[in-house]
Amino acid sequence: MNTLRLHLSHLDHNYKVIRSLMNPNTEFIAVVKANAYGSNAVVIAKQLEKLGVNALAVAYAQEGKILRTAGIKIPILVFYPQIEGLSTLLEFGLEPCLYSANLLIAFRSLLEKRQQDSYSVHIKYNTGLNRVGFTQEQTPWLLEQLQESPFHLKSVYSHLAASEVDKDDPLSKKQIQAFLSLKKQYELGLNEKPKFHLLNSSGLFNYPEYQFDAVRCGIALHGYVNKKMWDQKLKPFASLTSKICQIHQVKKGDFVGYNHGWKAPKEATIACLPIGHADGIGRHFGHGKAQVSIGNKKAPTVGNICMDMLMVDISGIKCKEGDEVVFFDKSATANLFAKGAATISYEVLTSLGNRIERIIEP
Ligand SMILES: *Cc1c(COP(=O)(O)O)cnc(C)c1O
Repeated sequence: MNTLRLHLSHLDHNYKVIRSLMNPNTEFIAVVKANAYGSNAVVIAKQLEKLGVNALAVAYAQEGKILRTAGIKIPILVFYPQIEGLSTLLEFGLEPCLYSANLLIAFRSLLEKRQQDSYSVHIKYNTGLNRVGFTQEQTPWLLEQLQESPFHLKSVYSHLAASEVDKDDPLSKKQIQAFLSLKKQYELGLNEKPKFHLLNSSGLFNYPEYQFDAVRCGIALHGYVNKKMWDQKLKPFASLTSKICQIHQVKKGDFVGYNHGWKAPKEATIACLPIGHADGIGRHFGHGKAQVSIGNKKAPTVGNICMDMLMVDISGIKCKEGDEVVFFDKSATANLFAKGAATISYEVLTSLGNRIERIIEP
């Protein structure tokens, strides 16, 4: 019925394209958070491990636990560990990214209590995104903590707020300068030699000269980098299809869907698709904000998206019940699909629910 096809050969292709932008010594941290951007974290992680990435990254400890339980052996960073999940990190050998004093102190005391030494950690700085991260003013305190604590500092990193914005972006420049200056502070103030990294997918395409020791790529592996010119080098990894489950005719003036969301301006043919907002096709895709492809024809959504169903106007399109419809694939990309409803490929992909069958294609 609803199928998300995952094209492994496209993942391999995207990996190679990303690698071609990287210096030979730059490490590849492959980001597989949110079930690898809504696909299948275990399958993707295994493939990436095979392709030779240096490490994986997830958002929360629970996601890392799933990968370890499935047999993934390479390092796994946890970007946003929460204090209540810290013991899971130790149990499954996951590397926390420490971003606040409270978190650092909590993790330090847990390691001391368990008499663990040289545990791999990463330090996250806020240089302008103003989400999580230490500020530059906290560096003296951090350096002190790092000298005396049971941590092995593997890396220090930050995250750009607008990595896809055209290159002369003054705010990105400011973040890069801030990062360079704290890098210097670490090189002078610490005996350990951590790695430094700043760039996500579009960061690498936009600022390859600032890749430092590693890059953290997620969305580019899925074929998207937030800019048409860059997207063209990549291949969309996932295709979403559904099947028409019923077709009916409505007369001019008839209403379709909840709250009489759509009134037929003339006689129309309506197809119902067994996919809805519970599957990640949110209500913002209703009222013509999304189109599906049937053969080479486009059919817009009509009215409100329901929980398990949505309706499209197939007037003038030759098709029958049981026919396949495409939400997005190689040519009608998830990025294009997202744009219609003023959202982004990240949201479309990660919203896809677990009622949609994932099929791995070679
Ligand atoms: C999600 C995330 C990434 C990956 O970003 P993409 O744009 O998908 O490449 C990198 N770094 C951090 C800190 C993230 O949270």
